[in-house]
Amino acid sequence: MRGLAYFHQGDIHFTDNLSEPKIQSGDELILEVSWCGICGTDLHEYTDGPIFMPKDGCANELSGNGLPLAMGHEMSGIVSEVGSKVTRFKKGDHVVVDAGCGCLDTHRFEDTQLSGTMCNACKIGMVNCCSHAGFIGLGVGGGGFAEKVLVAEQHCIKVPKEIPLDVAALVEPLSVSWHAVSSSGFQRGQTACVFGAGPIGLATILVLKGFGASKIVVSELAKIRRVLAESLNVETFDPSKHGKDAIEELRKIPEGDDGFDFAFDCSGVKPTFDGALKVTTFRGTSVNLAIWGNKPIDYYPMDVTLKEKKLTGSIGYVVKDFEGVVSAIHDGRIPLSDCRHLITGKQKLEDGWEKGFLELMNHKDSNVKILLTPNNHGELHST
Ligand SMILES: [Zn+2]
Ligand SMILES: [Zn+2]
Repeated sequence: MRGLAYFHQGDIHFTDNLSEPKIQSGDELILEVSWCGICGTDLHEYTDGPIFMPKDGCANELSGNGLPLAMGHEMSGIVSEVGSKVTRFKKGDHVVVDAGCGCLDTHRFEDTQLSGTMCNACKIGMVNCCSHAGFIGLGVGGGGFAEKVLVAEQHCIKVPKEIPLDVAALVEPLSVSWHAVSSSGFQRGQTACVFGAGPIGLATILVLKGFGASKIVVSELAKIRRVLAESLNVETFDPSKHGKDAIEELRKIPEGDDGFDFAFDCSGVKPTFDGALKVTTFRGTSVNLAIWGNKPIDYYPMDVTLKEKKLTGSIGYVVKDFEGVVSAIHDGRIPLSDCRHLITGKQKLEDGWEKGFLELMNHKDSNVKILLTPNNHGELHST
C-alpha cells in the first residue's frame, strides 16, 4: 500500500511498500482515506522526534507496532469494510476519526504491553487525559497518509454527506479547540481574546464563532497571520504597535474597558501566557491550549488571586467534541466558507513530503492546513 511514512527522526518519505491493514477485532473498520491534514506535531516528529512515535527498534506500548508507520491523524474517509461487531457504520459512510487511543483500545491489540490496564482518567471517561494516550498516525497504528487506515468503531464519527470530505478533514483540529472552549465553560454572548493566529488559534476563532461569542479579538505579531484572522471577520490586535502598554490597550477593547470574559493562549510563549492572564476581567478564565517545551516560566499568582480569575488548560479531545464540530458545520454555526480559509494547500500523497511537509517548514506563516489525498476523493486545487 502507498503511504507517507515515518522511518525515524529526519526521515519521512513516500513508500509503496506498507502492508494493508486487516481487521483484527470485530469492533474495527477500514477506511479509504479521503483527505488528511499535516499537523505541527507531525513536523516535530521529524525535527525533534520520536516524541509520540516509537523509538528505533522499540514498539508502541498500546499496540506493539514498530516503525515504519504511515503518519497523519487529521483525516476524513469512506468506510470500505466493517468488522462483525460494528453496529453504527456501513460501507460507503463518510466518517472522521478521533485519533486518540488509550486503555480502552488495548483489547484490540495482540502485542499490547498494557493488557487489562485501566487508568483513573479512562475510568471516568477523561480518555484525553489517559496515562497511556497515543494516536493513530503517531505510532499506535498507521495513519491517514496512506490509502487505507484501520480504526475502532468507538473512534469513528459519521459525517453527513453535505459536508465535503476536504472540510471534514478539519474536524480533528477544530475538535481540539472545541474541547477547550466547551470545557472552559464559555457561554453564548461572552467575549474572548485569542493569543496567536496559527492553526490552533484560527480553529479556536471558528469554534468561538460557533459558540456565539459576542466579541473575538486576536492578538498576533505576524501581519500575514492577522490578515488570515481578518478573513474570518474578527478584530485583530498588533501588540508591537503598543509597546509596554499593549495588554492595557487590549483590555480596553471590550465594552466596559475591563477585559475579556475568556482568553485562549494558542501560542505558548511567556508574553502570551502573561497576556492571557492579564486581559481577562474579574472572575475571567484564561485557558492554555498550547503545547509548551520542557521549560518552566514564572508568573505572578496575584494576577489570578486579586481578581478571582481562573487559569486552566485543555488537551486533545473526546468523541463528543467531534460530534459538536460536525453538527456546528452541518447547521452553519461554523460556516463552510470560514473552514475553507484554513485550507491553504491540497496535494497528492506522493507529493506530500515536498509540497506538504517542506512547504510548511519553509513557509510557516503563510500556511494553515495542507491536506493530502491518497485516493483522489475530490478535486485537488479548488479550495
Ligand atoms: Zn494534530
Ligand atoms: Zn487510560
